[in-house]
Amino acid sequence: MKIEKNKIVLIDYTLTDNDGVVIDTSQGREPLKYLHGTGALISGLEKELEGKEVGAKLDIAVKPEDGYGLRNEALLQKVPTEHFPTEPAIQVGMQFQADGPQGPILVTIIDLNHTEVTVDGNHPLAGATLNFKVEVKEIKEPTEEELSHGHSH
Ligand code: ZN
Repeated sequence: MKIEKNKIVLIDYTLTDNDGVVIDTSQGREPLKYLHGTGALISGLEKELEGKEVGAKLDIAVKPEDGYGLRNEALLQKVPTEHFPTEPAIQVGMQFQADGPQGPILVTIIDLNHTEVTVDGNHPLAGATLNFKVEVKEIKEPTEEELSHGHSH
């Protein structure tokens, strides 16, 4: 069986950045299970997996455009520190929901001082090339329920 639209696919994967730092991995966990062709994975990854069979090992470099997008400097914003609650104390790296132009977005605090907090509305992996090592473990037909829901169970 080959990977194609509406197959249930199980993969082992390790994602590293360009410095070789592991960002995410299925090592030590169950393989990642998804319904192919539904946008469950980032597009650059689904595209490369298309047509592959069980046992296939892939090294995939996904460009930012096919991953989490390019960085948009307009999503950097300075906000007066007084707009943040004092408890718990805010720190660089904290993430929270904020109102973006098209609805809620996840923003990350990247800098702060006594008067201003700099928040970044870019996805933490925006602008990053995503280096995936993937092994296809299993390919199977979805259940009626999975197909009707449009995702794997
Ligand atoms: Zn469901």
